[in-house]
Amino acid sequence: MSNTLLNTRDIQFQLYEVLDSAALTQRARFAEHSQETFNAAIDTAAQIATDLFAPHNAKLDSQEPEFDGKKVSIIPEVKIAFDALAQAGFIAGRQDYELDGMQLPEVIMAVCMGYFTSANPSTSGYSFLTSAAANLINIFASETLKAQFLAPMLQGRFSGTMALTEPHAGSSLADIRTSAKRTEQGHYLIKGDKIFISGGDHEMTENIVHLVLAKIEGAPPGVKGISLFLVPKFTLDDAGKPPQRNDIALTGLIHKLGYRGTTSTALSFGENGACEGYLIGEEHQGLRYMFQMMNEARVGVAMGAMVIGYRGYLYSLEYARDRVQGRHATDSPTSPPIPIVQHADVRRMLLAQKSYVEGGFSLCLLGASLLDDINTLDDAGQVEKTQILLDLLTPVIKSWCSEFGPKANDLAIQILGGSGYTREYPVEQFWRDNRLNPIHEGTNGIQALDLLGRKVWQHKSLGLQLLGQRINLDIQRAQALDDSRCSEWAKDLGKALLSVQKITLQLGGDLAQSGVDKTLANAACYMNIVGKVVVAWLWLQQALAAEAGLAKLGTSATKNNDDSHFYQGKLQATQYFFKWELSSIHQNLTLLTERDDTCFAMQNEWF
Ligand SMILES: Cc1cc2nc3c(=O)[nH]c(=O)nc-3n(C[C@H](O)[C@H](O)[C@H](O)COP(=O)(O)OP(=O)(O)OC[C@H]3O[C@@H](n4cnc5c(N)ncnc54)[C@H](O)[C@@H]3O)c2cc1C
Repeated sequence: MSNTLLNTRDIQFQLYEVLDSAALTQRARFAEHSQETFNAAIDTAAQIATDLFAPHNAKLDSQEPEFDGKKVSIIPEVKIAFDALAQAGFIAGRQDYELDGMQLPEVIMAVCMGYFTSANPSTSGYSFLTSAAANLINIFASETLKAQFLAPMLQGRFSGTMALTEPHAGSSLADIRTSAKRTEQGHYLIKGDKIFISGGDHEMTENIVHLVLAKIEGAPPGVKGISLFLVPKFTLDDAGKPPQRNDIALTGLIHKLGYRGTTSTALSFGENGACEGYLIGEEHQGLRYMFQMMNEARVGVAMGAMVIGYRGYLYSLEYARDRVQGRHATDSPTSPPIPIVQHADVRRMLLAQKSYVEGGFSLCLLGASLLDDINTLDDAGQVEKTQILLDLLTPVIKSWCSEFGPKANDLAIQILGGSGYTREYPVEQFWRDNRLNPIHEGTNGIQALDLLGRKVWQHKSLGLQLLGQRINLDIQRAQALDDSRCSEWAKDLGKALLSVQKITLQLGGDLAQSGVDKTLANAACYMNIVGKVVVAWLWLQQALAAEAGLAKLGTSATKNNDDSHFYQGKLQATQYFFKWELSSIHQNLTLLTERDDTCFAMQNEWF
């Protein structure tokens, strides 16, 4: 398998040497699986991604979807790839066998979907949205709706969207205006404008199933009055065929920096007063249902950010090994020029990328494996605690990965020098595509407010305690190792964790005393500290697994083989992350400790 999309060796390491994903096969839900079937699914995804997704990534970027006033046209390669992904079972990959799913664990699905996004984020977008919308319908919709819509979505005959944002209401969904009016026939009439709806119109599938947030007339104000509706592009007759166009108009396509191949649409629902929508679950519970989808989508966005970062890292690594330029300061001016990978500053940029993308990949797999625990552990108490931990970590996973994925791509451009800035090389597209991730699924600013304003305090801060317990277990494991760099890193991590716990207590006091707005003003600093500590912990886990791998190799002649280099690379990247990245939390800690109010006190008129 080609290593241009993701590093196969790293995936095997992270799944089976760090996470022990093979042990999942002992759980009832995955009993029919084995490490071989997990790897077979990953290989299939990697093959389809390589053959059918990657080849048109640049073409789709330059020939984006067009709307001629009647219909949207997209280059044909997108449908071919979408259909192949669906036919291989990946839209339904995590679903039950009864739904023709593969009952794959979330960690394995995360890797499979990671391959598709690395190869082509825009084309992958259609299937991700469909899979997430189908999942929500499966959990919350009535049996009637499921009977009509679920199977065609899981088969890829219908696609899905998530329609939340309105022109005046993005981060603040409490202010949406789209309305829903109950009819005597039982359905609702939906009316309102939505914007930025990904996959909102195209001709690739027989039907498009929009999941729309709207307020039923007379609903309570704010988020408590939001309901969720299934609004199909074509309403169905009893035979399940799509006979009639619903009253949904595409008012225009939006032209974007990246992700150009996923249609971004402005949609008008009910211009003629005839847009049929069907309530999902109970009235006024819409945001709760949507958050179920969004929380999973946030881990998905994080993985997307990481794999695009990962692809840029692999590309710039190959480039740095090939490109010759300059010499070491001590070399003779007549000596031949050397590959740029030999310059320490280029290695700095490669190590930074490696530490971001392999560390962030680990963070995404942690999120996915917590989901697996929630879905499949027998002990209800354990499930509850795992949910609390995942609730705490979700904004951290989304925000850290979507901040550092584009940063990795930025460094990849830098390594390519002038070539990196041209459209003849792919890294500028990687950066443009990745730049969406800190914005959608809740901006990173909103994630930081969610972490410091809500998540940390839920269940009397049990989430943070559970996180601390897990980190401390690995610190103890590392400190038990003699003659290993791991024990030094464990000490640093222990100190950083204590700092998080101390500053959290102080900020909790501030929130109660000196006011919410002032304390939350520096939420981004808090997010940065927590993110760096969590990723440092995951690097320590990788370092421990690398030490174990090296110990297995022993001192024999095999010590200079690929595996040995791989493990040494993991240890060096851990060192980089601790020395160059974790250390940067001190500046943020100082700002928080001093209760710096520079941003809070700045006045609009002073700009
Ligand atoms: C390519 C693309 C695809 C998208 N796909 C979809 C989709 O499929 N479905 C969908 O429903 N939406 C979609 N969106 C919309 C996306 O979710 C929103 O753009 C996002 O939630 C931000 O909303 P906004 O653009 O209105 O920005 P605003 O909410 O206006 O925010 C602008 C800035 O202000 C900050 N800000 C806002 N409120 C606060 C606050 N209270 N405190 C501190 N800072 C604040 C934000 O962090 C941000 O930096 C998509 C957007 C894009 C660009």
